[in-house]
Amino acid sequence: MTKIGILALQGAFAEHEQVLNSLSVQTVQIRNRQDWETHSDLDGLILPGGESTVMGKLLHDLDLFEPIKAKIEKGLPVFGTCAGLILLAKTIVGDQTKHLASMDISVARNAYGRQLGSFVTNADFKGTGEIPMVFIRGPIIEIVGPEVEVLSQVKGAIVAAKEKQMLVTSFHPELTGDTRVHAYFLEMVTQVKQDKL
Ligand code: GLN
Repeated sequence: MTKIGILALQGAFAEHEQVLNSLSVQTVQIRNRQDWETHSDLDGLILPGGESTVMGKLLHDLDLFEPIKAKIEKGLPVFGTCAGLILLAKTIVGDQTKHLASMDISVARNAYGRQLGSFVTNADFKGTGEIPMVFIRGPIIEIVGPEVEVLSQVKGAIVAAKEKQMLVTSFHPELTGDTRVHAYFLEMVTQVKQDKL
């Protein structure tokens, strides 16, 4: 059975858990180093939305930063939503801060404004069709590296992308009741699992 870890330090982690459980996927919350070590057999990891600065700091304080970064770079499938996308980005526009910096994207935080930055829209997601998207003070991806595939754009801005086994969305697919983006991630997870056999 597929087992997905969900970083549960802060933010919208419970909602990801519900979506994955509805898809019959086993989930575990990663809250500390011990959880991470207990569940060393994860097939994938979700970095949820929340506040990237807070999550980034907690990753260091809890001694999770290095092992998570190392495992992602060794090929663990990872799905970052909103703040999770920021954690994975190599560069944050206008900011020296870097977090896991594993994915070759440059992102602008709070790109839709701080207060009025929340909205719902529908847009095409590559290979999936039109899906509902909930934005909550989300980032946009301004620059993508050559290995990055753009999966979705809203009003000309990149809001979903994939590089190797890493998937990111600026929006919150866990808040819509539409499970297709999670299903897309699970296909990536299955592919990685098969490649290992
Ligand atoms: N604005 C948040 C940040 O910069 C992200 C918002 C979210 O995850 N919904 O980290």
